[in-house]
Amino acid sequence: MTNPLSLFKPFPEPPALILDYIAERSAEESVVDGPPPWDLGALPAELAKPMPAWLNSVCRWLNQTYAWQPQDVIPPCWEKHEGLGYEIAALAFARGDAYADPGSTVVWHEQYDRFLTRMNKALGKAGDECRVGRHEDCPARFQIAAWGEAPAANPDPTANTGGPE
Ligand SMILES: [Zn+2]
Repeated sequence: MTNPLSLFKPFPEPPALILDYIAERSAEESVVDGPPPWDLGALPAELAKPMPAWLNSVCRWLNQTYAWQPQDVIPPCWEKHEGLGYEIAALAFARGDAYADPGSTVVWHEQYDRFLTRMNKALGKAGDECRVGRHEDCPARFQIAAWGEAPAANPDPTANTGGPE
Protein backbone atom coordinates (compact mmCIF):
# COMPACT_ATOMS: atom_id res chain seq x y z
CA MET A 1 0.00 0.00 0.00
CA THR A 2 1.41 3.40 -0.92
CA ASN A 3 1.54 6.14 1.66
CA PRO A 4 -1.25 8.66 0.93
CA LEU A 5 1.19 11.44 1.88
CA SER A 6 3.24 10.56 -1.16
CA LEU A 7 0.65 12.58 -3.11
CA PHE A 8 1.65 15.74 -1.21
CA LYS A 9 3.89 17.80 -3.45
CA PRO A 10 6.91 19.76 -2.18
CA PHE A 11 6.86 23.55 -2.30
CA PRO A 12 8.75 24.76 -5.40
CA GLU A 13 12.39 25.65 -4.73
CA PRO A 14 13.36 29.24 -5.54
CA PRO A 15 15.61 29.57 -8.61
CA ALA A 16 19.29 28.75 -7.93
CA LEU A 17 20.31 32.27 -8.95
CA ILE A 18 17.98 33.73 -6.31
CA LEU A 19 19.17 31.31 -3.61
CA ASP A 20 22.77 32.32 -4.35
CA TYR A 21 21.77 35.99 -4.16
CA ILE A 22 20.04 35.47 -0.79
CA ALA A 23 23.13 33.69 0.54
CA GLU A 24 25.38 36.53 -0.63
CA ARG A 25 23.10 39.16 0.90
CA SER A 26 22.96 37.45 4.28
CA ALA A 27 26.67 36.61 4.47
CA GLU A 28 28.33 38.27 7.45
CA GLU A 29 30.74 40.29 5.37
CA SER A 30 28.32 40.82 2.56
CA VAL A 31 29.23 43.32 -0.10
CA VAL A 32 25.91 42.78 -1.85
CA ASP A 33 23.65 45.74 -1.20
CA GLY A 34 20.84 44.88 -3.60
CA PRO A 35 17.09 44.83 -3.01
CA PRO A 36 15.45 41.89 -1.24
CA PRO A 37 14.34 39.37 -3.87
CA TRP A 38 10.65 39.74 -2.96
CA ASP A 39 10.77 43.42 -3.98
CA LEU A 40 9.91 42.54 -7.56
CA GLY A 41 9.86 46.07 -8.95
CA ALA A 42 13.34 46.82 -7.59
CA LEU A 43 15.06 43.71 -8.98
CA PRO A 44 17.72 44.13 -11.64
CA ALA A 45 16.82 42.40 -14.92
CA GLU A 46 19.13 39.45 -14.27
CA LEU A 47 17.40 38.56 -10.98
CA ALA A 48 13.91 39.38 -12.26
CA LYS A 49 14.29 37.00 -15.19
CA PRO A 50 13.75 33.65 -13.39
CA MET A 51 11.04 35.00 -11.07
CA PRO A 52 7.86 34.72 -13.21
CA ALA A 53 8.40 31.01 -13.90
CA TRP A 54 9.07 30.29 -10.23
CA LEU A 55 6.14 32.41 -8.99
CA ASN A 56 3.93 30.64 -11.53
CA SER A 57 4.92 27.31 -10.01
CA VAL A 58 4.32 28.76 -6.53
CA CYS A 59 0.80 29.85 -7.57
CA ARG A 60 0.14 26.44 -9.10
CA TRP A 61 1.27 24.80 -5.85
CA LEU A 62 -0.80 27.12 -3.65
CA ASN A 63 -3.87 26.56 -5.83
CA GLN A 64 -3.49 22.79 -5.94
CA THR A 65 -2.64 22.51 -2.26
CA TYR A 66 -5.02 24.96 -0.61
CA ALA A 67 -7.69 26.23 -2.99
CA TRP A 68 -10.78 24.18 -2.35
CA GLN A 69 -13.27 26.87 -3.35
CA PRO A 70 -13.16 28.80 -6.65
CA GLN A 71 -12.60 32.13 -4.87
CA ASP A 72 -9.40 30.76 -3.29
CA VAL A 73 -7.75 30.26 -6.70
CA ILE A 74 -5.05 32.75 -7.68
CA PRO A 75 -5.90 33.76 -11.27
CA PRO A 76 -3.45 32.76 -14.03
CA CYS A 77 -3.15 36.45 -14.99
CA TRP A 78 -1.62 37.34 -11.60
CA GLU A 79 1.31 39.04 -13.43
CA LYS A 80 -1.15 41.65 -14.73
CA HIS A 81 -2.17 42.40 -11.14
CA GLU A 82 0.95 44.08 -9.80
CA GLY A 83 -0.22 44.08 -6.19
CA LEU A 84 -0.88 40.35 -6.34
CA GLY A 85 2.62 39.78 -7.66
CA TYR A 86 4.18 41.57 -4.70
CA GLU A 87 2.03 39.63 -2.24
CA ILE A 88 2.68 36.26 -3.83
CA ALA A 89 6.44 36.88 -3.83
CA ALA A 90 6.44 37.89 -0.15
CA LEU A 91 4.29 34.90 0.80
CA ALA A 92 6.54 32.54 -1.15
CA PHE A 93 9.77 33.74 0.48
CA ALA A 94 8.15 33.97 3.92
CA ARG A 95 7.18 30.31 3.77
CA GLY A 96 10.79 29.20 3.85
CA ASP A 97 11.47 31.14 7.07
CA ALA A 98 8.10 30.27 8.61
CA TYR A 99 8.69 26.53 8.29
CA ALA A 100 11.70 26.76 10.61
CA ASP A 101 9.29 26.16 13.51
CA PRO A 102 5.67 24.98 13.87
CA GLY A 103 4.36 28.13 15.56
CA SER A 104 5.46 30.39 12.73
CA THR A 105 4.12 27.82 10.26
CA VAL A 106 0.70 28.30 11.84
CA VAL A 107 1.12 32.07 11.47
CA TRP A 108 2.08 31.63 7.80
CA HIS A 109 -1.18 29.78 7.24
CA GLU A 110 -3.07 32.60 8.91
CA GLN A 111 -1.27 35.06 6.66
CA TYR A 112 -2.20 32.96 3.63
CA ASP A 113 -5.83 33.27 4.70
CA ARG A 114 -5.44 37.06 4.95
CA PHE A 115 -3.80 37.05 1.53
CA LEU A 116 -6.91 35.36 0.09
CA THR A 117 -9.11 38.03 1.68
CA ARG A 118 -6.98 40.86 0.24
CA MET A 119 -6.79 39.15 -3.16
CA ASN A 120 -10.57 38.90 -3.37
CA LYS A 121 -11.04 42.47 -2.16
CA ALA A 122 -8.63 43.67 -4.87
CA LEU A 123 -10.09 41.53 -7.67
CA GLY A 124 -13.72 42.23 -6.87
CA LYS A 125 -16.17 40.96 -9.48
CA ALA A 126 -13.38 40.81 -12.09
CA GLY A 127 -11.94 37.89 -10.16
CA ASP A 128 -14.52 35.48 -11.57
CA GLU A 129 -13.48 36.31 -15.15
CA CYS A 130 -9.75 36.45 -14.40
CA ARG A 131 -9.87 33.01 -12.76
CA VAL A 132 -11.28 31.37 -15.88
CA GLY A 133 -8.66 32.97 -18.11
CA ARG A 134 -10.50 36.12 -19.22
CA HIS A 135 -8.42 38.89 -17.62
CA GLU A 136 -10.29 42.13 -17.05
CA ASP A 137 -8.39 45.40 -16.95
CA CYS A 138 -8.15 47.31 -13.69
CA PRO A 139 -11.55 48.92 -12.97
CA ALA A 140 -9.74 51.94 -11.46
CA ARG A 141 -7.71 52.58 -14.65
CA PHE A 142 -9.65 55.76 -15.55
CA GLN A 143 -9.18 57.24 -12.08
CA ILE A 144 -5.49 56.29 -12.11
CA ALA A 145 -5.09 57.81 -15.60
CA ALA A 146 -6.32 61.15 -14.20
CA TRP A 147 -2.96 61.41 -12.43
CA GLY A 148 -1.17 61.61 -15.77
CA GLU A 149 2.45 60.67 -16.25
CA ALA A 150 4.94 61.06 -13.41
CA PRO A 151 7.49 63.87 -13.85
CA ALA A 152 11.07 62.70 -14.38
CA ALA A 153 12.47 61.48 -11.07
CA ASN A 154 15.90 63.04 -11.58
CA PRO A 155 15.55 66.11 -13.78
CA ASP A 156 18.77 67.11 -15.48
CA PRO A 157 20.18 69.91 -13.28
CA THR A 158 21.97 71.40 -16.28
CA ALA A 159 18.72 71.75 -18.23
CA ASN A 160 17.34 75.24 -18.67
CA THR A 161 14.14 75.24 -16.64
CA GLY A 162 13.23 78.74 -17.66
CA GLY A 163 13.24 79.80 -14.01
CA PRO A 164 15.32 82.58 -12.42
CA GLU A 165 19.07 81.97 -12.36
ZN1 LIG B 1 -6.63 39.27 -14.33
